[in-house]
Amino acid sequence: MDLVVKNGTIVTASDIYQADIVVEGEKIALIGHGLSGREVIDARGHYVFPGFVDAHVHLSLPVGDIVSSDNFATGTIAAACGGTTTVLDFITPEPGQSLQEATVARRKEADGQVAIDYSLHLTAIDTAPETLEALPELAAQGYTSLKLYTTYAMRLDDDQLLCLLAAARKCEILPLVHTENHAAIEYLKARFLAEGKTEPRYHPLSRPPVVEAEAANRVLTLASLTGTPICIAHLTCREALAAVEGARARGQTAYAEVCPQHLLLSIDDYDRPGFEGAKFVLSPPLRDRSHWQPLWQALANGGLQAVSTDHCPWTFAEQKQRGRDDFTQIPNGAPGIETRVPLIYSEGVGTGRLSLNRFVEVCATGPARLFGLCPQKGTIAVGSDADLVLWDPNKEYQLTHENLHMNVDYSPYEDVTAKGYPALVLQRGKVIVKDNEFVGEVGAGQFLKRNPIHL
Ligand SMILES: [Zn+2]
Repeated sequence: MDLVVKNGTIVTASDIYQADIVVEGEKIALIGHGLSGREVIDARGHYVFPGFVDAHVHLSLPVGDIVSSDNFATGTIAAACGGTTTVLDFITPEPGQSLQEATVARRKEADGQVAIDYSLHLTAIDTAPETLEALPELAAQGYTSLKLYTTYAMRLDDDQLLCLLAAARKCEILPLVHTENHAAIEYLKARFLAEGKTEPRYHPLSRPPVVEAEAANRVLTLASLTGTPICIAHLTCREALAAVEGARARGQTAYAEVCPQHLLLSIDDYDRPGFEGAKFVLSPPLRDRSHWQPLWQALANGGLQAVSTDHCPWTFAEQKQRGRDDFTQIPNGAPGIETRVPLIYSEGVGTGRLSLNRFVEVCATGPARLFGLCPQKGTIAVGSDADLVLWDPNKEYQLTHENLHMNVDYSPYEDVTAKGYPALVLQRGKVIVKDNEFVGEVGAGQFLKRNPIHL
């Protein structure tokens, strides 16, 4: 036996118990009492969580002529330091590029650069015959989820959505859908600009909750016709939550993820002095505080299945400045890949909103299950990858950007001190983070072939 993690309190989505974990090679070989191994890690006083899974990140995302500031190396190192050992990024074809070509290109960018294990969601930007033919082939290669957009340049109309939802069902692929009504956003943006309203505070007003709820409701309605289970990406408001709950009440399989920023930050952040509000320009935008409680409640009771970050950092000093005179030109997105787990622990478990089991469920097991990674990832079980986070429940850590590893010049949580932080992070049996320092290897992360989504 290569390694034993002794005396920790193991927490999974369903259980809490004290035991030793034996690791052989890259897998968990045994869980029990009084176990031994060549190397011993003493986890006394710590929780032992499964490595956390972030199912929604955008590393090296090109938008126009700029690229999000974390690449596959810096972003995955930061993720690891925050306790995340698996991330799911995206394959987004350029116009004229096939989904297959885009997949090969994205793999080339990531393989050899990632510091933790990863997979990629497909994105469909059209319904060309080549796209539809590529889906079953790519699903067989382990790409079993499909991002669909209702806004931005990649947006699809209802005909295309129906076609792709039907195709996804056939290939056992789970659609992950960005739901906002494009025409409504364009209309509101144009109106504000015409009135000379150009500051960041008009960003959320140009994308109000009804705009998200309309698209969520529409996509869910279309999915009911094709019989396709879907997941709503980064759900932000009670109106969209009601659309998901309505679909479930009609018998549909509907999932939704939520991001920490929508549980912890609000529309008030756009009113910060000067141009500071630009730091919070992300889409769908931050809402007023009245949405926090229903979202936390849904996270606790099973209404929301996963906490993802939508990590997409842009530097404040340069990249965000593009929108100084026009909020519609501010690149959308914010950093979060490193702070997700400490924030949800601190603000969820620490305040009594989430049980320890539910915290593990929404940050690890839920996303792994949703996207075809269970039982390899997301849980602590014999045969699972030995991705483990030894958690110090008493460590306090200020989430200022100077304390973090993300390649960006600000943190949305500069003044927030998290209580509870990773002490040691293991990926497949190897220590990759110790005392908040990355000690793993860039390029050691592996691509994960995911299971089909069983209907
Ligand atoms: Zn996203």
